Amino acid sequence: LIQLYLPLNFLGFVYRQIRQSLIDMEQMFSLLRVEREVADSPDAQPLALNGGEVRFEAVDFGYDPRRPILHGVNFTIPAGKTLAVVGSSGAGKSTLSRLLYRFYDVTGGAIRIDGQDIRQVKQGTLRAAIGIVPQDTVLFNDTIYYNILYGRPDAAPAEVEEAARMARIHDFILSLPDGYQSKVGERGLKLSGGEKQRVAIARVILKRARILIFDEATSALDTKTEKQIQESLDQVSVDRTTLIIAHRLSTVVGADEILVLDKGQVAERGSHAQLLALDGRYARMWRQQLADHAEDAGPAPALSES
Ligand code: ADP
Ligand code: MG
Repeated sequence: LIQLYLPLNFLGFVYRQIRQSLIDMEQMFSLLRVEREVADSPDAQPLALNGGEVRFEAVDFGYDPRRPILHGVNFTIPAGKTLAVVGSSGAGKSTLSRLLYRFYDVTGGAIRIDGQDIRQVKQGTLRAAIGIVPQDTVLFNDTIYYNILYGRPDAAPAEVEEAARMARIHDFILSLPDGYQSKVGERGLKLSGGEKQRVAIARVILKRARILIFDEATSALDTKTEKQIQESLDQVSVDRTTLIIAHRLSTVVGADEILVLDKGQVAERGSHAQLLALDGRYARMWRQQLADHAEDAGPAPALSES
């Protein structure tokens, strides 16, 4: 029995190794693909970061030229301010964040940071300036510690822990048998969507970038954890230029400006109060969410907005 078991076990091991290599290869190729699409131009300069003003100028984009996704999108996020983007799924919200991080180049118009077209800027310096919590976080096949440290590789262990505390993931990490040394990702612990989001948030907190992008960064969290993390995110984004893509409108109420994106176009813009007064799409979404919330939570929340 042992004789039979050992080779089978060994084969299983080999199989897992091969399968894993294939996954790593796929990841490598998908990274290479992205790199190819956005090579540094020969005269690329380092980004001269000032306050971190972000400007989209008549941005057009399609992943496939035959199917345009964004049409003439204009907005400015003044240095240190917060812009929130809302809109139904498929509207093009995540595409905005991918363009700003320059996973792809715009097909028309331009994106500028502190006046510099990001196509003229060295990739590495652009990405160093931006902290992003993407909609779907992929963790490295490594320890939780490494996955957070990746945000700023020269950070001290105490800083990694502090970031984890702010992201409300520290206690969870300590509850694991191997603590911060627990392996995560394909080959390790399978974290839930909410746990992965919190690791990604800790990573971005640690990075301390001038420009922040949160793409539905708390969508997989329960309302209570979301509220706690929201406080940390508010703290982190003080004086940082912030692009929030939000599903739940409760997280955008305080933004300096809110855009409603519809089929790749800006349909409405203004503050929360202005958009409610406009009584259009945003006001309808807001009323809908209040109604949904009332269904979950019993008594309807007060309708007064500050
Ligand atoms: P949102 O974040 O508002 O839900 P996205 O920006 O993710 O919307 O997507 C906008 C549109 O672009 C969708 O129709 C989606 O199918 C398409 N899209 C998104 N990513 C890709 C991609 N990598 N390749 C081709 N089409 C894509
Ligand atoms: Mg999205």
